[in-house]
Amino acid sequence: MTETSRENLPVVVIGAGPVGLAAAAHLLERGLEPLVLEAGDGPAAAVASWGHVRLFSPWQYDIDAAARRLLTGTGWTEPNPDALPTGSDLVENYLAPLAAVLGDKVRYGARVSDVARDGADRSRSLGRERRPYLVRYTAGNEVHETRASAVIDASGTYGTPNPLGLSGLPAIGEEHAAEHLTGALPDVLGFDRERFAGRTALVVGMGHSAANTLLSLVELAKDEPTTRIVWAIRGGSARRLYGGGSDDELPARGLLGTRLRDAVEAGRVELLTRVAIERLEPDASGAVRVLGTARKDSTDGVLDLAVDTIVNATGFRPDLNMLREVRLDLDPVVEAPRQIASLIDPNHHSCGTVPAHGETELTHPDDGFYLVGMKSYGRAPTFLLATGYEQVRSVVAALAGDRAAADAVELNLPQTGVCSSDLAFAADADGVVSAEALAGATSGGCCATPSGPQTVTLGLSAPAEAATGCGSTAEPTSGCGSAPEPVKIGFTTGVEHGRSSD
Ligand SMILES: Cc1cc2nc3c(=O)[nH]c(=O)nc-3n(C[C@H](O)[C@H](O)[C@H](O)COP(=O)(O)OP(=O)(O)OC[C@H]3O[C@@H](n4cnc5c(N)ncnc54)[C@H](O)[C@@H]3O)c2cc1C
Repeated sequence: MTETSRENLPVVVIGAGPVGLAAAAHLLERGLEPLVLEAGDGPAAAVASWGHVRLFSPWQYDIDAAARRLLTGTGWTEPNPDALPTGSDLVENYLAPLAAVLGDKVRYGARVSDVARDGADRSRSLGRERRPYLVRYTAGNEVHETRASAVIDASGTYGTPNPLGLSGLPAIGEEHAAEHLTGALPDVLGFDRERFAGRTALVVGMGHSAANTLLSLVELAKDEPTTRIVWAIRGGSARRLYGGGSDDELPARGLLGTRLRDAVEAGRVELLTRVAIERLEPDASGAVRVLGTARKDSTDGVLDLAVDTIVNATGFRPDLNMLREVRLDLDPVVEAPRQIASLIDPNHHSCGTVPAHGETELTHPDDGFYLVGMKSYGRAPTFLLATGYEQVRSVVAALAGDRAAADAVELNLPQTGVCSSDLAFAADADGVVSAEALAGATSGGCCATPSGPQTVTLGLSAPAEAATGCGSTAEPTSGCGSAPEPVKIGFTTGVEHGRSSD
């Protein structure tokens, strides 16, 4: 068989989400040919599916620089930089226009199933580096293959939620209970209202997705008082999500956490802790029985709950099946590229602190293959768009042979707003946050950043005085507290060490 040369082949980008489209913009700008394969029928299918949710980062941190340059002059109007978009706003006012400019370089309805080195399975080393990539995808019920000089996998994790079972496995019967399960962020007050109104919902999980859904359900229950809301968490306390409490290192400012705690204390949300869901069984009434163990009112006992709908907000994991033939260097815990994993491991981090990083940290043994965007964080929940845009800028610079630009990794940090999910709750209908709300959300805490935008360069010369750290105690593997340390950004939560105090 003749070997195809890698040269002059396009760079395949998997996924037309915000980071995949940004990668395409950078490739075009560098004179490289992108081919974006997107499983959905339009741009940013994952973001569109949570379109009703407001982001917590204002527009100025949601737009990639190369994408902005590409859009400028096309008649595009840049949204108010200080306003917080919803997911739908992000698609309509930025990602759809960007995808339109990219035209036929984006192929929709194209679901990638496999990536390999052309003509060499994972175990074959001889001449491997000369071989292009072979990308197999399904479009219109047909299987297609295309060759690529490099592959940037920006396919996110939204399509692969964690299962409900405690051990990372599906609860027994989970596959057959699909009709009772929703994704992490159902549109409780809009499209999915009928599914929840006057019925019993079980929300499983302890992240911001769970909090969003619970608060929407509380809102719904005001109009539909027979709606019953049960919240199941794996840990012994919801303190990490509440944040801002009196025994918390964050100031009492977390609108989201505070509202949720109030709802639990008022009995509008029934909280079950130490929940282990073992089995799901349909019952005769059309509901589903959730069976396992749980603690309620300080007593451990049997969980046997009949519910109409289960909202699975237990987080996401990367789809690595399609990468079976690629030689990857992944962390065994987080399933993220090894060099960034210790910085985002949720066992140690609550606030998603991570320094700017680029191509060097994202390489794998198979050269020219990169995981970027949400997928590059593996199972860690704390990814931010600004981080992903810097990832693809650096990766594309390296692909274009511009090593200096690839290594000059920078992150323009905001004074606030990129890391606080509370802000989304403080925004008005146009996504604008008042000065008072902004002030309340900027003070102190694990994710606080110094006043004024900061540009931080990662590397040996990273300025020690720029470090904010991640709370007062650091673990050797956490990346917090080791000097010199760059400024980090992330979600606010309320405890220092990830899950350790749950
Ligand atoms: C509710 C919510 C709110 C968030 N708010 C913020 C915020 O305020 N600020 C912030 O910085 N970050 C936020 N994030 C985190 C993160 O920035 C987003 O998840 C963002 O969408 C990640 O972008 P991405 O391009 O990496 O992945 P995605 O947006 O998930 O895009 C991946 C794309 O790949 C496609 N795809 C998947 N599998 C395949 C396949 N096999 N073949 C082809 N295509 C495939 C999908 O259809 C999708 O279009 C939020 C996340 C969520 C869920």
